[in-house]
Amino acid sequence: MDIRNCSRCGKIYVYDGFNICINCRREDEEDFQKVKMYLEENPGANIMEVSEGTKVDSKKIINFLKEGRLEITDETNIILSCERCGRSIRTGRFCNACVVELEKELKTAIKDSDPKEQNYRAKERIRIIDRKYKGKKEYKNY
Ligand SMILES: [Zn+2]
Ligand SMILES: [Zn+2]
Repeated sequence: MDIRNCSRCGKIYVYDGFNICINCRREDEEDFQKVKMYLEENPGANIMEVSEGTKVDSKKIINFLKEGRLEITDETNIILSCERCGRSIRTGRFCNACVVELEKELKTAIKDSDPKEQNYRAKERIRIIDRKYKGKKEYKNY
């Protein structure tokens, strides 16, 4: 059994793949339901209004957005932006274009992993010799 401390409330719990305990998760779920209900009754409410109406912390609401559980309806939102290009997005962490790009990059990285790694190592070595190991004996045969 993997026993851990909940990263939210600090209580000990049996780890099951989540960083917070079952109680905190239940609390999150209840908050999410509150937010959801509020939004059903007040479509188009902003985060501040939702937070006031539900007593759910606005940070938590933003987290729900990042998790992709909520979506912003306003095109000109300034709260969520793509972590890659900065364009405003409605949900999640990246805009659609960047999701496509990131997937492409991921595939290329896997395909060309060998040459890329060699390049990286070559650069690393030069840097290390210059700064730290210059003239050191044990580095000559390297
Ligand atoms: Zn907890
Ligand atoms: Zn983007």
